Amino acid sequence: VMERGSETGDMTAARSAIRRVVIVGGGTAGWMAAAALARFLPAGTSIALVESDAIGTVGVGEATIPQIRLFNQGLGIDEDDFIRATQGTFKLGIEFVGWSGAPDGVESRYIHAFGTIGRGLGLVPFHQHWLRHRSGGGARGLWDFSASALAAQHDRFARELGRPDLPSGVAWAFQFDAGLYAAYLRSYAEARGVVRHEGRVVAVGQDGERGDITGVTLDSGTEVSGDFFVDCSGFRGLLIEQTLHAGYDDWSALLPCDRALAVPSANVGATTPYTRATARETGWQWRIPLQHRTGNGLVYCSAFLDDARAADLLLGGLDGKPLADPRPLSFTTGRRRSAWVKNCVALGLAAGFMEPLESTSIHLIQAGIARLLQLFPQDCDSSIEAAEFNRQTTREWRAVRDFLVLHYHANGRDEPFWRACREAPIPDSLAHRIDLFRSTGRLFREGEELFAEPGWLQVLIGQGVTPRRYDPLADGLPAAQLDEFLSLARRHVEQVVGRMPTHDAFIAAHCAAS
Ligand code: FAD
Repeated sequence: VMERGSETGDMTAARSAIRRVVIVGGGTAGWMAAAALARFLPAGTSIALVESDAIGTVGVGEATIPQIRLFNQGLGIDEDDFIRATQGTFKLGIEFVGWSGAPDGVESRYIHAFGTIGRGLGLVPFHQHWLRHRSGGGARGLWDFSASALAAQHDRFARELGRPDLPSGVAWAFQFDAGLYAAYLRSYAEARGVVRHEGRVVAVGQDGERGDITGVTLDSGTEVSGDFFVDCSGFRGLLIEQTLHAGYDDWSALLPCDRALAVPSANVGATTPYTRATARETGWQWRIPLQHRTGNGLVYCSAFLDDARAADLLLGGLDGKPLADPRPLSFTTGRRRSAWVKNCVALGLAAGFMEPLESTSIHLIQAGIARLLQLFPQDCDSSIEAAEFNRQTTREWRAVRDFLVLHYHANGRDEPFWRACREAPIPDSLAHRIDLFRSTGRLFREGEELFAEPGWLQVLIGQGVTPRRYDPLADGLPAAQLDEFLSLARRHVEQVVGRMPTHDAFIAAHCAAS
């Protein structure tokens, strides 16, 4: 997408009849949308954002996946400046602890590391060679071939070694303070002309004939009118649900957690370049290290765990001392049946919610913004664009949902909650993927789905889904060369990580917050 005001942007402006865009909500979704629309929409489009200080934001959402770097790059944000401003850290993956129980008396652990794992040969993916090695009694683990995993294990990080022209396969995301991130994007957006209105929306105006939204009225009496609306009002879905009645697909039969408690704690020890997700007796606990504190939370299911016990579990599982009282949040997992209805697109929690197990929510906001820009309507009748937006969004959300369900379905724990998760029906699409993998280790990314083969591979293997045999195509590599091939791959990973400074040293040298 060309930058706002650039040559192509001006051409688009000439065709577009949408002149006034109104964003309702100033959380992560609202300010991400404001920043991106300010950067990319034609220069003549006015952008207003309404937010209520009294209502506030959800205040969580601190771990991301590598695609966020594309968002920042699109905005022209300097990575070090951004990290400094948000008390951010680097993230090489998510460590999953205890999801397969404690088979040998030691809590199971694996990492979903970002980036690649080894390099395939021709048509044969790398992991098929590794499966062959294992079937022959070889001892190397899958993660021996991931530079991100090895770096995470040793608390190391270096950006230079992730350059795409170097075959190291390192990829990274960020962990940051959600409030500081929204503030950072706010100053970016306001500097590019976005007008902020503070106040509570008390009425929504609609066109009598078409039902399009025409404007919102604030408690101060101020009216903010527009041609197109972006609903970033959070769980309440002020425009998309309360006004336009989009409907909600409830996915809690597949992902049964419906509560969370969030609490910050003091930092202890080295700043780990990864997020941790530890399975607890019901649900799981997150740990997100930032420069100034650690974010923690317990995601749980109220049918299996009461709130008081949840608070005990969370506080009992902290590394450092808590810096506040745990803050409760409740949610119903699922999504709006249509995220785009009439002249309104919902982003963020207004569009739906899936728990933060794989840090996907901020990414789904980013993907929604990109899709909105790609389909930005040319005039006030946007039904064709809306249909395409909704079609793509449905596919995207279902694929993420399946990936999350896999973690619950393939667990190896004994508590009643976890047994129930194992026994619950799963979507056919996921069952098929698991069956195919179990049979010969084959994995395919569907269309443009978010998680690629390395992500699925790590969670499947990490949670104990083992293929019965490897793909016979892997036998194309002469047996004598298999060990050498794997040894070279391992040596490469060791060399890459061996040159990295510690994560803390890297931050101190490049982007320490003041
Ligand atoms: P909110 O932050 O709720 O913002 C809503 C905005 O709308 C506010 O500004 C509010 O003032 C405004 N508003 C509402 N009603 C009105 C009104 N009547 N008038 C005026 N203004 C109004 N995502 C990740 O990617 N990674 C994570 O690690 C992660 N962890 C999470 C953990 C939990 C427990 C939860 C619940 C979510 C998590 N998320 C995570 C999701 C992430 O927090 C959200 O996607 C993100 O914060 C976006 O929220 P939002 O902007 O849609 O909503």
